[in-house]
Amino acid sequence: MPNENNSGILLYAQTNREGYIHTVFFELVDKAKDLAQKLGAVDVNAVIFTSDIEKYKEAFQNMGLDKVFYFEDERLKEYSTLYYSKLFIDVAKLTAPEIILIGATNQGRDLAPRISSELHTGLTADCIELDINEKGLLAATRPTFGGQLMATILCKTYPQMATVRPGVFRVRSVDNKKDTEFIKMESDLDSVDDKVKLLEFKKLINAEINDLDSAEIIVCGGMGLKNKQGFDLLKQFADKIGATVAATRPAVESGLAPRAVQIGQTGKTVHPKIYIACAVSGAIQHVVGMEGSDHIIAINNDPNAPIFDIADTGIVGDVFDIMKKYIEN
Ligand SMILES: Cc1cc2nc3c(=O)[nH]c(=O)nc-3n(C[C@H](O)[C@H](O)[C@H](O)COP(=O)(O)OP(=O)(O)OC[C@H]3O[C@@H](n4cnc5c(N)ncnc54)[C@H](O)[C@@H]3O)c2cc1C
Repeated sequence: MPNENNSGILLYAQTNREGYIHTVFFELVDKAKDLAQKLGAVDVNAVIFTSDIEKYKEAFQNMGLDKVFYFEDERLKEYSTLYYSKLFIDVAKLTAPEIILIGATNQGRDLAPRISSELHTGLTADCIELDINEKGLLAATRPTFGGQLMATILCKTYPQMATVRPGVFRVRSVDNKKDTEFIKMESDLDSVDDKVKLLEFKKLINAEINDLDSAEIIVCGGMGLKNKQGFDLLKQFADKIGATVAATRPAVESGLAPRAVQIGQTGKTVHPKIYIACAVSGAIQHVVGMEGSDHIIAINNDPNAPIFDIADTGIVGDVFDIMKKYIEN
């Protein structure tokens, strides 16, 4: 039953060290707006920890948020589980949201469980779909039993909480502009004994990982490429057409590509303009990570390969011959 004491949806606007808001937040805003409509046009609000709210104001207004609660405090410059969760909970107690949504980033996966346990409520982690059911409850769907089943989970307590994997929802470019209310919150942190000290920050530089998120063309290698030589050829093919390389899970597990470029249920979800599946069979666990691509091209020597069921363009043939032709021309 919808709870008359709780209303609205509260989102976490995560920023990175460079001060950019994480893309998963934009994805969540659009989804939250859909859910809010189903709940009777309730508010969609956000929490942000920042030293400069001014630079985000226009973005929040354009996204059509109702209220943004912000904390400005030197102690919040670096992510801290205890500080961030305490202050997020302050906003949750103040606003009594019906739903809290947080991106399933490394930070979100750390923050969300602490908030849910402090609020004595449930948390459905790593969701791939969210909806409102006929009783007005959040229906949060996530893979379970190692990805063998999809489970839709309802929460009996409020606020209903979920984390959502980045890349699962798409950002819509619709005009939502609103006169967002910005509310400065007091950072009451003196009672918090932050036991964790950040001694050093080392950035993991991996261009391929970052490229996949923004790549317009992705070429994905499957087990039909057989070995390292096959993946070297795939890389040459990708360079020739200006694409970024990804891989299926067995290819990753065989050491042919890094784990960070795995596409699918247990990997990344991507939405490039063009996705070229090279010797990929098209198992459902792979397809869930790439079916949102604008145009899917499949190259496979088996005309009955399931990948052709979802491909916009199918090429039946030997992947090595086809890639070589492109590389040589
Ligand atoms: C719980 C769980 C989670 C999973 N998560 C993921 C995931 O996140 N991502 C993922 O990718 N998989 C995942 N899998 C594995 C998935 O079920 C498939 O096994 C996998 O996607 C198949 O990979 P593949 O297409 O590379 O290999 P294969 O299924 O072996 O397909 C190889 C394809 O290459 C074609 N081929 C061979 N030689 C050539 C050639 N010379 N020219 C053209 N085509 C050729 C073949 O016809 C075949 O279709 C998961 C499985 C489970 C059980």
